[in-house]
This record gives sequence, C-alpha cells and structure tokens, in this order.
Amino acid sequence: MVERRTLAECDPAIAGLVRDETERQEFGLEMIPSENFVSEAILEACGSVLTNKYAEGLPQKRYYGGCECVDRVEEIAQERAMKLFGAEFVNVQPHSGATANQAVFESYLTPGDTIMGLKLDHGGHLTHGLKVNFSGKHYEVVAYGVDENTHQINYDEVRALAEQHRPKLIISGASAYSRAIDFQKFQEIAESVGARHLADIAHYAGLIAAEEYPSPLPFSDYVTTTTHKTLRGPRSGMIMAKEAYAKDINRSVFPGLQGGPHMHTIAAKAVAFLEAAQPSFRDYAKQVIENARALSAALIEEGFSVVSGGTDSHVLLVDVRPADITGKEASEVLDSIGITANMNTIPYDPQPPRVCSGVRFGTPALTTRGMKAGEMKTVARFIREAVDHRGDQQKLTSLQNDIRSLSEQFPLYRHRLV
Ligand SMILES: *Cc1c(COP(=O)(O)O)cnc(C)c1O
Repeated sequence: MVERRTLAECDPAIAGLVRDETERQEFGLEMIPSENFVSEAILEACGSVLTNKYAEGLPQKRYYGGCECVDRVEEIAQERAMKLFGAEFVNVQPHSGATANQAVFESYLTPGDTIMGLKLDHGGHLTHGLKVNFSGKHYEVVAYGVDENTHQINYDEVRALAEQHRPKLIISGASAYSRAIDFQKFQEIAESVGARHLADIAHYAGLIAAEEYPSPLPFSDYVTTTTHKTLRGPRSGMIMAKEAYAKDINRSVFPGLQGGPHMHTIAAKAVAFLEAAQPSFRDYAKQVIENARALSAALIEEGFSVVSGGTDSHVLLVDVRPADITGKEASEVLDSIGITANMNTIPYDPQPPRVCSGVRFGTPALTTRGMKAGEMKTVARFIREAVDHRGDQQKLTSLQNDIRSLSEQFPLYRHRLV
C-alpha cells in the first residue's frame, strides 16, 4: 500500500523546510525578476499522480501503455500553447529553459558551428554562449553587446558582426535587458546572412502572451521559453518553431536529450496556458509593466540610476554607484531586511562580476500579490533607506518590520501556514 501519512508525519525535516519556505515567500518582498507565484490550481497539477506515469514519445506515439489520459493532457497543453502564442508548432516536453535551448542547438547545429548571442555581462543568458556552459564549450561564440551610451541593443553592430562572422544561429532574448527587443530585425539579419534565428523569450513570455511586449511569433525560426517567469506557470520550458522544423525538434528533445516527459508538469503547464489566456492575465501583465515603470521612476527619484533610463518590461537594472555601494553589498543588505533581489553587472561595469555595480529588480511576483504603483514607491523608499543605513541594525530591524507589515496586506499562501 502507498504511504498515506502526510508529509509532516512521515518526514518532519522536509515538511518543516517547506513550511519555512512558505513563510519566507509570504512575508518577504520577492523582487527577483525571474520568479513568480503560481496558482493553487497549478500547485495541485504539479502535485498530482501524473508524476507516476512514464510516457516516452509523443501523444498517440508512445513507447509505453496506459497513456490515454496523459496523451490528452499533452495534446491540450500543445493546443493551448499554440493558440496563446500563435505558434505553428510546439513541443511542451523540455524540463527547463536551458534544456529547451540545448534541444534547439542539437536539432540543427554541429559542434564547432558559430552562434551569436548577447554578452552575458550585458544581460545575456548562460545558454547563449558562456564558456563553461554547453553553448560555449561546443560552439564558437560571437557576442554582441549593448551600446555604451544608450545601453540598448545596437542592431547595426549585430548586423556587422553577423556579416563578418557568418554564424549559423543568432540568438535574441535576454535575462537582464529591460527594453523592447526588435525580434523582426533579428530575423531579418539572420536571413540576410543565411543563419537561423532563435528568440529566447524566457523572461518576457507572459508579457508576450498578453500582447504587452513585442512577439517574435510567427516569423522566427525558433522560440524557446521557460514557463515559470512572467508566464506564471510551473518550473519548466518549451519550444515553438516553424512547422518545417517540427520533426527535428521533436527528435532532439526525445530521444536526443530527454527520456520520459514530466507529465505532472505538462499538466501544470496546460493550466498555466489556460490562466494566461484569460482577460485577467492581460490586466496582470499590464500592471507588471506599470509597476516596473513606477519602481524605476521612484528609484531614480531616490537618487539611483537606472540602466537605459527606464524599462519597457517587468525588469529593471539599477546602477547603485550613486549611493556609494556595490551591487553585492546592496543585495546583501536588502536580503537581510526581506527584499529578495540579485546583484547584476551593469553594461561596461567597472567592478568584477562577483561584486557588480548593479542590482536587478523585477515586478512579476509583487504584482501577482496585488501590489500597484503606490506600493512600488514605498518599496523604493525602503531600498534607499536600507542602503543608506546599512550599518545601523536598529534601522534595519525597523525596515524589516515595515516590510513584513506591507507583505501582510497582500496575502499569498498564508492558509498553507496554519
Ligand atoms: C531563465 C532563462 C533561461 C533558463 O531557464 P532555466 O529554466 O533556469 O533553465 C534561458 N534563457 C533565458 C534568457 C533565461 O532568462
């Protein structure tokens, strides 16, 4: 018989940590731009018995019996994803964003081929060519940067590099780039040099689904994404592509890279796509961007500098040098009072990557809790005060209490703590 006791009864150590983490999420301010809070329905799908099922292969073409239920689950996830993004083809099986990118690489490139992506210290992702990542180990990497003055992508530079190096794949998309990306221009440049274009929308997917950020569909060769950032689904990934590449992508995911798909997560992704198709999700995405703009303006008012002068999305990169502090020190003091963010290099950063001059903030999680522009002003003030009084424990404790009071006004999973 299966164990029928609760988690708390059979494993108090893990149960206790889950409870502590629930409390940490409930009573702090989550400002990491790649994080969000999923719905109860998504948690339920993630925790369902679908975790028990092996389903190697694709719907109706499995290598295991008993797949009639999970086949429908995956078909529904596919249908919803294609409708949500206007995609010709989708594979919903990748376990994460990194795996989705790897599957695209493997489907089309040969080791030694040249790829182009945004420099990591200008906002790119490690799968876009970091030396110790598969992308940098097995491929020749040509990186483009942002303009020194505007801190925005310079498409003339992208075109010049593409013409000079003739990459096979050009990657657009980023992890710390707040401005609108001209995906159409990337596709054009790629086509002009005989390359294919991969738009990695891991960060922007929810905003794109809500039509609040430019979409790379349907004209891009490949579009990869995570499902757990602005899209507010379970921790996972997916690949969309032109129909012509469907076969190669499917084979690359399985059996190329993965074995059995995580059917419980695919069920949760289906739920997330349903949620993202609702009018209320559009309002959410609009509010995410409005909040990021309000936070950016308020931080500038508090004396900080914001990279590129503002944001078109959910994320902003703050240059903390005007407050005579490093990114590392700033993120540490914020963490100590309950504001979770991460240090980040700013373009042309004079500090080494482990120190940084910037902090990256995002509004998706706070917006899910119901916070609006007024709260962003309050949060900007907390940030300034924490940085200014970083040696003053009494002041920091008082700020920590203020943050707890603010978070208490916007309940999240509190019912799970009682
Ligand atoms: C987060 C992110 C990924 C990777 O996602 P994981 O699920 O953490 O593997 C890929 N690309 C970009 C641009 C990202 O920001």
